[in-house]
Amino acid sequence: MQKMCANGWCKQSFEVTEEDRAMLTKLRPTIGGEIFDLPEPTMCFSCRLQRRTAFYNCRSLYKRPCDFTKKNLISIFSPDKPYTVYHKDIWFSDQWDPLQYGRAFDFSRPFFPQFMEFTESVPLQSIAHIGPDNINSDYTNDNYKLKNCFLIFDGEQAEDCYYGHTFVLTKNCVDFVFLYECELCFECVHCQKCYDLSYSRYCINCSSSWFLRDCIGCKDCFGCANLRQKQYCIFNEQKTKVEYEAFLKEWVSDSYAASATMKERTEAFFLTQPVKAVRGEQNVNSLGDNLSECKGSYWCFDCNQQEESRYCTDCLMSSKDSMDIHVWGDNQELCYNCCVIGAGSRGLIGDYYVTQNCTDVLYSLYCSHGCANLFGCVGLRRAQYCIFNKQYTQKEYETLVPRIIRHMQATKEWGEFFPPEFALFGYNETMAHTFFPLTKDECLKRGWQWCDFEAPVEATLVIPADQLPDNGSDVPDDILNWAIICEVSGKPFRIIKQELDFYRHHHVPIPRRHPNQRHRDRFSLKNPFMLFPRECAQCQKPISTSYSPDRPEIVVCEECYLATVY
Ligand SMILES: [Zn+2]
Ligand SMILES: [Zn+2]
Repeated sequence: MQKMCANGWCKQSFEVTEEDRAMLTKLRPTIGGEIFDLPEPTMCFSCRLQRRTAFYNCRSLYKRPCDFTKKNLISIFSPDKPYTVYHKDIWFSDQWDPLQYGRAFDFSRPFFPQFMEFTESVPLQSIAHIGPDNINSDYTNDNYKLKNCFLIFDGEQAEDCYYGHTFVLTKNCVDFVFLYECELCFECVHCQKCYDLSYSRYCINCSSSWFLRDCIGCKDCFGCANLRQKQYCIFNEQKTKVEYEAFLKEWVSDSYAASATMKERTEAFFLTQPVKAVRGEQNVNSLGDNLSECKGSYWCFDCNQQEESRYCTDCLMSSKDSMDIHVWGDNQELCYNCCVIGAGSRGLIGDYYVTQNCTDVLYSLYCSHGCANLFGCVGLRRAQYCIFNKQYTQKEYETLVPRIIRHMQATKEWGEFFPPEFALFGYNETMAHTFFPLTKDECLKRGWQWCDFEAPVEATLVIPADQLPDNGSDVPDDILNWAIICEVSGKPFRIIKQELDFYRHHHVPIPRRHPNQRHRDRFSLKNPFMLFPRECAQCQKPISTSYSPDRPEIVVCEECYLATVY
């Protein structure tokens, strides 16, 4: 049956299927022997994803003092925020006790506003941080096992990487989104096991190439799409080694104008080459885009190793029997309506940033290290049977939590994720703004927050981007002391030495856009988390595709695509 999305401004209808209901039944929590039904979603898939990601500041970093040591640090909390913020090392130490902030639940008020008031009273970690310490990588968030990295987010195990988002095992990569085991890649989106690849997307096992799309196992190729195991191809035409090298010599330069022209030419060429309706590898009975090794999963996007999961996004590591989860997985099971949970999480509902072997934690933030049976808690580790950070006995917990759930059922909060009006960040600081951009006015009209704080940029010279020399090699080293005004957003940004060295070494131009703008540009090369009905451009069979019907690409079904590439 079709339902209307509860958000008045959305006006989309959506369906809650029998399979959804069966999953909600599977996900019901049992507390003190009592089973609590989960209500059907009230919002459409996009609004649910927007609501979860409106809590997720992954990429906005600021300088501010630590409220414990008073020393300056890098934080996801701008200095104008009302929260108490501790350096991550202090926060994870025994120098303070989160249980000290415990308070009783007030049954005369709804859950969400009092929980967010309570959150304001508990010290928060300066950056979202899991696992062992990162080395020389302060200007990063939401990662672990980094070495010498700068402005990279949402990933693990990287070395000498700058300006990236979502990655596993990358080395010497700059300006990227979704890289998996890559080295020396530049301006790449969704690439796997690639080496020395530039301006490319959706490639696997490619090397020493430029401007590729949907290629596998290619090397020394330029401006190609849908090729397999090729060498010395230019715009999908086979050339000799000599011809290829002559072409590269003529084209490859660090000229900004030349690279812009080549980008345009390649995009125009790509439009003449078919794309597969949805991308994915080794999936069984699964529906979604950019899936790999998924089984029985439905309406999932950018996920790997998902089993029997529904409406999940960016879960790059294994998860099972989960629904409505954005980021990340890694042995996660039976979780519902959460954002950024993973590493052995089980039985989580309505959580944000609950990680590392937590089980049966409900409506909590920033809890980790084997917590179990928590409700409405903030910043706990190795704790159990707590409500609003107050310690209870198992018996007390199992009596009080059912009462709170019934209270939340009455206030219609039960089963919903925290509303954006209570987010810890301005909407424009969160991933929701990347996926569903809004203007400040639209945002305020919905009662959501906006962050106007602008960090000052110090520089000896402020230069508009179009006044930079066209060739990177003509830019003096002194650029490291300048602020460049982004040609699109007008925001000033700086260049770091390692980055400049990378551009020079790889003969690519100096950027004229702010790192956040570059991130937005790259993100715009990804399709939305949505499937549309369309016809295969070759056999006219109905297909589900992430390419909306108004887009100009030649979208084909899996069979027609395979017939083209092999
Ligand atoms: Zn909606
Ligand atoms: Zn077809």
